[in-house]
Amino acid sequence: MRIIDAHVHLYPPEANRAPAAWAAARGERHWATLCTRVRKNGRPVQGFPSVDELLRDMDTAGVERAVLQGWYWEKHDTCVLQNRFYADCLRAHPDRLAAFATFHAAAGAAVIEEEIRRAAGEGFCGLGELSPHSQGVAIDDPTWRNALVLAGELALPVNLHVTEPAGKKYPGKIETPLGDFVRLAREFPRTKFVLAHWGARLPLDPELGTAARACTNLFYDTAASPLLYERAVFREMIDAVGVGRVLYGSDHPLDLYPKNGAASQVGAMLEDVRAAGLSKAELEAVLGQNAVELMGI
Ligand SMILES: [Zn+2]
Repeated sequence: MRIIDAHVHLYPPEANRAPAAWAAARGERHWATLCTRVRKNGRPVQGFPSVDELLRDMDTAGVERAVLQGWYWEKHDTCVLQNRFYADCLRAHPDRLAAFATFHAAAGAAVIEEEIRRAAGEGFCGLGELSPHSQGVAIDDPTWRNALVLAGELALPVNLHVTEPAGKKYPGKIETPLGDFVRLAREFPRTKFVLAHWGARLPLDPELGTAARACTNLFYDTAASPLLYERAVFREMIDAVGVGRVLYGSDHPLDLYPKNGAASQVGAMLEDVRAAGLSKAELEAVLGQNAVELMGI
C-alpha cells in the first residue's frame, strides 16, 4: 500500500540549530510560540529533523513520500527562505518528497504572483500551510484573493490551517472562524482547499456542515489528529464527506503522543489510522491515493 504523508514540516538547518534565536532574529514570534514550546512534562512539542533524518525515518515507517508543508510565516522573507529550502529538497529527492510553497500577502500582488509561478516551475504541488488569520491578512485582501485565483489556474491545492473553535486552548492558538472556509470554497470554486487538522470537523458543524459538505473543492487532512480527536473521527468524517476527500497527514515533527515517552516519529500515527475501522479500499484512498490524485504526484 502506498503511504503518502501529506502534512510534514521541515526547516532550514540554520533554524534547526537554534530555533528560538532564529525566530527572534526574523521576527517570527508566532512560530516560536507554537514550535519551540516545552510541554508541562518537560518534553518539547516537536523535533527539528534534517531532511536526511526525515528520509531515514520514512524508510523505517514505510512512508513512500512526504509532502512538505510551508509555514504561515509573519514575514515574506521567511516564506521565500523556506520556499528556496524546499526547492533544494525537491531537487535532491524528487522521488521521496513533494512540497507546498508559502507566501505572505503583505508582499504585494506582483511579488506573490512571481513567487507562486516560480514555485510551480520548481515542481511544488500546492500552496500552504497558510493561515490568513495567523498572518494578519483579511479574507478580503485583494492580494490574498489573487493568489487563490492563481492557485486554481495552476491546479495548486491550498492547505489552510484550521483550529477548533471550541477545542483545547494551547499557547499561540489563533481563532480561525469556520464560516470563512466555506466562504473561500464558494468564492473560489476552481481552487481546491485542504483544511488541515480535519478542518476542525467543519462538515459535522451543526450550522455550517451542510454548506461545507456541498463544497466539493474542500478536502481535509488528518494532521495532529491524535492530539485533537478520538479515533472515531476517521469514520465520522469519511461518512460525512466521502473517502475521496480525506488525506492522511501527520504534522510531523510535532510530537503526537506526548504521554508515550517516545520521541516524535514519522509514521507514529499510522497505527491509529489502521485501527480506525476503515476498509482496505478506504485505507488505500486515505493513506496515499487521494494525495496522488489531488496533488498530481
Ligand atoms: Zn502543519
